[in-house]
Parts: sequence; C-alpha cells; structure tokens
Amino acid sequence: MIQYKLDPIFNSICSKIKNKRKFNHLIFIVMKSNGLIYTLLLLLSAVISCGSGQKAYNTGEEADSSVVARNGHLQVIGTQLSNEKGEPLVLRGASLGWHNLWPRFYNEGAVKWLKEDWKCTVVRAAMGLEIEDNYRENPEFALQCITPVIEAAIDNGIYVIIDFHAHKKYTKEAKAFFAEMAGKYGEYSNVIYEIWNEPDYFEWEEVKAYSEEVIEVIRAIDPDNIILVGSPHWDQDLHLVAADPIQNVSNIMYTMHFYAATHESWLRERTDAAIAAGIPIFVSECGGSEANGDGRLGVEEWNTYVDWMESRKISWVAWSVSDKNETCSMLLPRASAEGKWTEDLLKPWGKLTRNSLRSHNESPSGAYTP
Ligand code: MG
Repeated sequence: MIQYKLDPIFNSICSKIKNKRKFNHLIFIVMKSNGLIYTLLLLLSAVISCGSGQKAYNTGEEADSSVVARNGHLQVIGTQLSNEKGEPLVLRGASLGWHNLWPRFYNEGAVKWLKEDWKCTVVRAAMGLEIEDNYRENPEFALQCITPVIEAAIDNGIYVIIDFHAHKKYTKEAKAFFAEMAGKYGEYSNVIYEIWNEPDYFEWEEVKAYSEEVIEVIRAIDPDNIILVGSPHWDQDLHLVAADPIQNVSNIMYTMHFYAATHESWLRERTDAAIAAGIPIFVSECGGSEANGDGRLGVEEWNTYVDWMESRKISWVAWSVSDKNETCSMLLPRASAEGKWTEDLLKPWGKLTRNSLRSHNESPSGAYTP
C-alpha cells in the first residue's frame, strides 16, 4: 500500500536529504512509490547531485567495484542465496561482538578495515538484548552503536546483518525494532535482518510463531530483503524446521551456528538433511573454539567446516571482533577501535579467520558469483 510505504519514507526525508550520499537512494525509493513526487525530486536531485550518475543502491566511493554494486539485491532461489541476476552468491565475513560489551568496535573505521584488509563481504552488528546496558534497558545507546556500522557497510558497498542478539524471547521489542530498521534501511540492498540470534530452550512452535509475527511486521514495510530465522538450541534444531517450515514468505533463510571444536559431523549432517528438504541455510555465526566461546581452538575441525560450507555454497560469518581473554575473541585488548590491526594484534582465532576470509573471498573460485 502506497500510503503505508510513504510514511516512513517522508519521516526519513529530512535526515536523508542532509546527506548527499543517500540522496540518489531516496530518489530510487520515491520513484517506486509515486510518479509525481519522483518528477519533482528528480529535478531537485539534478541540482544537488550535479548528475553524479551513481546507482540507486550503494552510492559509496567504490560503488562500481564493491560486492553490493556487483550483486545488488539479494534473493533466495530454492535453498541458495543468490544475487539480483539469480546467480549463486556466497557471503563471508565477521561478526562484531555484543554491542553492549564491545561498543568500541562499532565504528566506520573497523568496518572499513574488515572490508579492505580481511576482505569481508558481510559484517554483522550484534545488538545485545541481554547482559547489562542492553537494547531493552538503553535503546538509544544500542542505536548509537549499530547505526554507524550499518551506514559504514552501505557506504563501503558490503552487506550487513542487523542481528537481534537474544537468547530469550522479546517479541514486542523485536517488532518495534525491526519496524524501525525496515523503515530506515529496507530499500538498501546491503541489509539483512536476523530476527532472533539464538533461541535457547524454546519449542520450535514458539520460535516459529515469534518469527512469523516479526516477519509480518518487516514485510509490511520491506517486501524483499533477506530475513534470517533462528531455531531452538542455538540454531541447531534444523530437523524441526525442516519438518514444519514457515510458509508463504519469500527471501527467508534459517541460521545454523556452529563452534568447530565442539560440534562434530552430526551438525553438518543435520544441516545437509535440512537443505535436502528445501531449507535455505545461512551460517550467521560460527567459530573454531568450543561452544562456550573458549577452550581449544580446533583448527583442523574449522577447516573441515569451511570446506563443507564452501562445497554447499553456504554463506558464513565468524564470531567475533572483540578483545576478551577467550578463544573466540579475535583481537588483543591493545588493538585500536578503528581497524589497522597488524598481525601482532590478532589472537590465533583472528589470524585463522582473516586467512580463511582472504583465501576464499579473493580466490577466483571463491568469487562472489561462482
Ligand atoms: Mg527491501
């Protein structure tokens, strides 16, 4: 419905118009909604942008060569994440840690470094719903953290997962949050929504009902961006999803999370069975450590998992860009907030992640459109 779509657009006009980099995108939104307004704004655009000729999505400096410029709007075809042309696409990247534990890494410099040096094609903003100073207690701070990450991803032409990082269920907060995110960013090709990071001890029926409610809110505003859906036991119960998937919604995928030193072949086999049953999978969080984020770093097991994901063209995001004294933290405490992390500032898992990302995102066989 046009009226419904126009409200969030005009609400955001003032903020967007201040920022020239977003102006052409605004034109793109409006031309889809209303021909008259399109005409008026096109004239205005000609004055403001002096005919810069950039694409509607990704108006950053590297618009022509970025992963988003080349692949555009994402879609799910069968079980496969695909680009705008319908070609298979594998995204690989890193997740920031909980925003309320590691707010210092939520900035443009860190995102730019992850793109340029680690070769990430996707980053994940993990907005915490638990642990102190979380989104429920302090939504303003949460938005102050995730906004520069989302906008840096847009400016730098990479994809970004907006992750509702919760283990418990907060339906009311999720609906309000994703309505806001879909209104602000639903027209950007860069954005992927992850609506419930890891449900812990819930039945699939409950997770499914929550997901359907949140998806309905998003789809009323944004008809097409990818939505990632969790499952019970930290996104491992894909057999339950396969037996009773969400119906009649396009461009949704289900998350699988693994920690290689704990999770053995059974989780890959369960995921393979889900894919065979038609369930699209996105590994939005994974690590080489044990499941608690600490303990042994399983290098061999990690490589086995990466080979498996690559063979199935599954996108993956490693956890996490943080500096805690634990195995799954990638950086040392003395690493700067804004990137420029030399090798000596990376913990073993950081080095392993960076190597895996660089080898797959740079090699011809690991290209964005295989
Ligand atoms: Mg959209």
